[in-house]
Amino acid sequence: MTAQIIDGKAFAATVREKVAGHVARLKEEHGITPGLAVVLVGEDPASQVYVRSKGKQTVETGMNSYEHKLDASTPEDELLALIDKLNNDPAVHGILVQLPLPGHLNEDLVINSIDPAKDVDGFHISNVGLLGTGQKSMVPCTPLGCLMMLREYHGSLSGMDAVVIGRSNIVGKPMAQLLLGDSCTVTIAHSRTKDLPEVVRRADIVVAAVGRPEMVPGEWIKEGATVIDVGINRIERDGKNVLVGDVDFPSCAERAGAITPVPGGVGPMTIACLLANTVTACCRANGLSEPEGLTA
Ligand code: NAD
Repeated sequence: MTAQIIDGKAFAATVREKVAGHVARLKEEHGITPGLAVVLVGEDPASQVYVRSKGKQTVETGMNSYEHKLDASTPEDELLALIDKLNNDPAVHGILVQLPLPGHLNEDLVINSIDPAKDVDGFHISNVGLLGTGQKSMVPCTPLGCLMMLREYHGSLSGMDAVVIGRSNIVGKPMAQLLLGDSCTVTIAHSRTKDLPEVVRRADIVVAAVGRPEMVPGEWIKEGATVIDVGINRIERDGKNVLVGDVDFPSCAERAGAITPVPGGVGPMTIACLLANTVTACCRANGLSEPEGLTA
């Protein structure tokens, strides 16, 4: 079998179009412009690239983007004061604090100081609890993007066997919750899992979120399974810097029914879902009906 490629770049463009349509309606019908505030502390080069890209796409979809760049040595109380100000600013519907934070800042404390209704990353402990109990929440962007692609490809996921490799708070665990919410039978595998190849072989859906280049070979994949590769790993190959995922794309594409590429799969969907979450947060804040197809 040769897998169908799930084109995350193209799908992200359709999500952004939907977001832009909702933003235009919010402006025309209600005089509201959704606003996203992004806080960057320090000069981490990868974070700077992400923040720029988020700001650009926010503006392109018609929303307001507020960037707050703070010095790497910013004291915690100063950062918390900024978050408090943004929590109370009616023009700001979404707040994102770019991670990782410099070592002297307590990430949990900072994330949990964001108003859960504005927590467009879905990392606040309240949103984690709401998601875990199947209630309306803000859903972390990367797993939301994976879920959207799976729903688009399969329609219903009900009854499918899903294996999520990786148990991080930002990808693995919320991904598993979302798949459970869509009635999959879910296994979370991690670094201590016994016989990972056998666990993966059972899966109709494999989501790899490990951070190890090309760790999953094609021989682990059940014939016809859907493979979602979250990994972003920069490696050197033939003297060049290249991006690869957590699955060995060529051999997995031989066995899978469908697969996301790296780059061009999950990555573009993550920012698209951040924009979607901002519109959702804005609608909820104003007591308006939520945009269809942009939430979990
Ligand atoms: P993490 O380091 O927080 O978690 C990795 C998980 O992998 C851990 O739970 C660990 O138990 C598991 N693991 C490690 N070695 C393993 C092994 N040998 N077998 C099975 N499981 C193993 O990473 P994360 O933040 O969840 O990110 C995972 C990957 O996804 C990274 O490559 C990251 O860059 C990428 N990522 C991509 C996006 C995107 O937008 N595409 C977003 C977030 C993360």
